[in-house]
This record gives sequence, C-alpha cells and structure tokens, in this order.
Amino acid sequence: MFKNVIAPIQSWLLSKGQCVGCGMPLSKGTRLSKDKTSEKVTCKCGRIFIYDKNEKTYRRALFSEV
Ligand SMILES: [Zn+2]
Repeated sequence: MFKNVIAPIQSWLLSKGQCVGCGMPLSKGTRLSKDKTSEKVTCKCGRIFIYDKNEKTYRRALFSEV
C-alpha cells in the first residue's frame, strides 16, 4: 500500500531536484563528473543520484553505478 504512495512522491521530489530521502536540494550535494552527459551526485544523507546534463533531470543511481 505504502509503495503506491511513496513512488509518486519520490519522482515528484526528483523532478524538483530534491533528494527523495531528506528533501535537500541536490544542487547542494557533492557532484562528480561521470561522463560527458551525466554527473554523479551524492547527497549528504548518503543517497546517490545521476544527473542528466542534457535533460536536466535526476534519477536514482543503479547499484552498478554506485
Ligand atoms: Zn538526502
């Protein structure tokens, strides 16, 4: 039941560039260039996201990318 509620909230937070765990703006996270089009962003709460420079969107990092 909760999963159905949490998933839309998480994608809504990500669409605004905020961490899904603590709500902090990801612009304040630690950024590392991953390749030409993406950056790895580590939030201070430890969650890791991938920022797509072309689409200007965030998504959760996959385990293989951490
Ligand atoms: Zn966070």
